[in-house]
Amino acid sequence: MDADIGIIGLGTMGSMAAWQLAKSGASVIGFEQFGIGHDRSAAGGESRIFRTAYKEGSNYVPLLKDAYKLWRELEEESGNSLLTLTNGLIIGNPDTAEMKNVFKSIQDYDLDHEILSREEALIRYPQHGLQPDEQIIIDKLSGYLRPQLSIVSAVQRARELGAEIHSHTAVDHLKSEKDGVSLYVGDRVFKVGKVLITAGPWAVNFMREFAEFMDVRRLVNAWFLPRKSEKFNEKNFPVFTRESEGFYYYGFPAVDGNMVKIGMFTTEKSRISSPDSLEREIRMEELAAFTELIDKDLPDLYPDPSRVNSYMEIYTADRHPIVGKSPGHDPIIYLTGFSGHGFKLAPVMGKIGAELAMNGVTDYHIEPFSPARFIKEGSL
Ligand SMILES: Cc1cc2nc3c(=O)[nH]c(=O)nc-3n(C[C@H](O)[C@H](O)[C@H](O)COP(=O)(O)OP(=O)(O)OC[C@H]3O[C@@H](n4cnc5c(N)ncnc54)[C@H](O)[C@@H]3O)c2cc1C
Repeated sequence: MDADIGIIGLGTMGSMAAWQLAKSGASVIGFEQFGIGHDRSAAGGESRIFRTAYKEGSNYVPLLKDAYKLWRELEEESGNSLLTLTNGLIIGNPDTAEMKNVFKSIQDYDLDHEILSREEALIRYPQHGLQPDEQIIIDKLSGYLRPQLSIVSAVQRARELGAEIHSHTAVDHLKSEKDGVSLYVGDRVFKVGKVLITAGPWAVNFMREFAEFMDVRRLVNAWFLPRKSEKFNEKNFPVFTRESEGFYYYGFPAVDGNMVKIGMFTTEKSRISSPDSLEREIRMEELAAFTELIDKDLPDLYPDPSRVNSYMEIYTADRHPIVGKSPGHDPIIYLTGFSGHGFKLAPVMGKIGAELAMNGVTDYHIEPFSPARFIKEGSL
């Protein structure tokens, strides 16, 4: 055996799993096809929102609360600042399903929050041009994370705790054996007891039977200069998510003291055929959609972006992740399919992956994320 546990992909989830495993004393070996902290898949673009009042469902709140503690733990262990709380504005029509989930999260878990009427919101956050039917909820446990620094911090910590890390090293394929799993890497074969599949957009390469339930999507981010920078600093312009006329987008204060980043939630139209064919050039109609949005909702920003880039993420059919043992092969554990909202959860997901790999079980409520909802147990 080369290690008790192997990890394929040291991006968001794999880095956190490596940290948690090494911290628990497991022997762990991790592989990353690119450099650690690269920006070529799901974690690029400098910032990710952390939020607790959750439009995706109140069942995530206990996970988010533990993730928050683990982010602070990683900060302490690494000495790096990773999560900055700014409050988080959730903007939308209170009658939508997503806003109802936000209210339910607040009620179920007594979350610290404030609700602003449209009139109050216009006074406190004049940067947002609100529609007559919109309201703002302030989530007090919300802010932004530094994704690439987080990944580097977790991998560095894992290494210090004894993990063996191979960067610029792709795992070509794997084979389930009687006593573990063989990982084929170039002309070498590594033997591990269990393996975590944390390959993000490439995960389907290791779980082909799930292909019809997963798709890779391209997501565009754009950075805008404020007309008056003070209005968009961290104090005056918290992170936000917004649903406006059936269209979702989100944004950040000027975390570099300069530009405001805006991203759009994706639709099936952004599907790409393979993660190896991510188009990084931004099309004119994509730019036009951003400009229209800025003109309408955020007129204190210059509408032409100063910087644009594209990233990608793997989505599942129900937009909840796939977390658990492979239905046919116990030593293979999936931690993937985070569908555009996984970064904030990463350390707790790393902990869950580590527990599943080491003990076969976890106390966290991961039933809704079970691989068996797509492929039945024992069917492989
Ligand atoms: C533009 C954008 C904005 C987002 N905004 C937010 C947000 O604000 N808040 C939030 O919580 N979430 C957000 N998300 C979602 C979040 O970033 C993702 O859910 C999360 O990063 C997914 O992590 P992952 O580990 O699955 O994938 P990744 O971080 O991409 O990691 C997968 C890794 O596996 C490696 N790999 C793949 N195949 C192999 C192989 N064969 N051998 C070795 N290595 C391999 C890849 O190179 C990569 O490093 C956003 C996503 C995108 C794309």
